[in-house]
Amino acid sequence: MPVDFRIAHALGQISPAQTQKIISTLVSFRNRSTLSSMVKGLPPGTGVTAAADWIYSQFQAISAQCGNCLEVHRDTFTQAPGTGPHARITQPTTLTDVYAVLRGTDPGQAARMLLVTGHYDSRNSSNFNTTDPAPGANDDASGVAVSLECARVLSKLRFPATLVFVAVAGEEQGLYGSRHLAQEARQQGWHLEGVLNNDIVGGNRTPGDKFQDEHAVRVYSEPVPADATPEQIRRILMLGYDSDSPSRELARAITEVARTYTGAPATSSEPIVSGLAPVLEFRTDRFLRGGDHESFNEQGFAAVRFSEWREDFNHQHQNVRMEDGVQYGDLLKFVDFNYVARVARLNAATMAVLADAPPEPVHVIYPFPKVFVFNNSLNDTSISWQPAPGTPADTRYMIVWRPTAAPNWTRAISAEKAREIISWAGKDATYTVTLPISKDNVIFGVMAVDPQGHRSPAVVPWPGR
Ligand SMILES: [Zn+2]
Repeated sequence: MPVDFRIAHALGQISPAQTQKIISTLVSFRNRSTLSSMVKGLPPGTGVTAAADWIYSQFQAISAQCGNCLEVHRDTFTQAPGTGPHARITQPTTLTDVYAVLRGTDPGQAARMLLVTGHYDSRNSSNFNTTDPAPGANDDASGVAVSLECARVLSKLRFPATLVFVAVAGEEQGLYGSRHLAQEARQQGWHLEGVLNNDIVGGNRTPGDKFQDEHAVRVYSEPVPADATPEQIRRILMLGYDSDSPSRELARAITEVARTYTGAPATSSEPIVSGLAPVLEFRTDRFLRGGDHESFNEQGFAAVRFSEWREDFNHQHQNVRMEDGVQYGDLLKFVDFNYVARVARLNAATMAVLADAPPEPVHVIYPFPKVFVFNNSLNDTSISWQPAPGTPADTRYMIVWRPTAAPNWTRAISAEKAREIISWAGKDATYTVTLPISKDNVIFGVMAVDPQGHRSPAVVPWPGR
């Protein structure tokens, strides 16, 4: 994928100093426990509601810089208590999600949305402690810094599709804020094409830790859609599509973006996403743990999680204290602001590329005859697809494939080239390409590409007519 210098220039404006400012301000609210919204008489400038007010004001300030280009929202609701002995919300509790929307400029594509999120609530050793410090510098002021930085630099550009910049609460009690937003999105028919959840992207640097990798970020994606029915799961397993959920194709698209925007291109001195490689993790989240992307997965949306390479659990969900010479607590001093900025650049690049790219093709199928015939034509592969509604007329398509055991796409050919090789029929807005490669041996995908080379995530074909 070629570099888009307009995007590269925006990425160059993401600054470690700005991420430091955001994270230290969030830490200054002392304890951002979601439960603090119900505590009366908190000192001014402390607690989760003050933090929500500040994030809201930041989105407004960003919007003021771009001619009020953002719609800034504050979605406050009452969360009912959880059930069971381990409930972490035990009384009706006020929660606030804060988000800003940069509407797409193409009426045919503005319904398409890309969303970046982090959670602004924090906690210390006890879920119910709303008074002792819970700085949450890494978990997850770092993720909120990514959302705010993406909003700041991308709001200076315009995209055909819509971008949404989010900070949610209630993560530490059970993903309540993200679940509420994801359910609203589903009910309101948001066409969310990709959700990027950043949680613990501070690049923790504990003195003496030799195992942190400041040039790697883990990207988690579900193998099979969380909302798949048993019958759908049966078909996914039958076809060997247990590593091709839309979330996983989104994760693969992130590696494509990183390949293009990692390191400065020869023709520009702009620093871009230099020195950060996404490491695809083929599981929904870290072992036995979860995050806000799962709320979106549950509602049928493609969503992934970014996390630093190596977490330090002395600095998560801990009261700030010294014990046997060890510092506990999620403190500002352990955050690597350069790392947060790199993660923010990769997020911003992904949002920009996917928002510029045409919509993914639809009705992507292996067209099967009514009667299945065994002959040598089965060694060839035909793939058909249609442009999604609103697709610009100058959209082109790319066929990608990989061996079934390969994690990422290994080969690609433009659909027009494929036409020269074998056959092509592009009539009535249905495209068909036939390639001399057996679908028994590889997994295929189809991407939509615009004239500048921005590519959609791949869509795998299903048997159909
Ligand atoms: Zn977190």
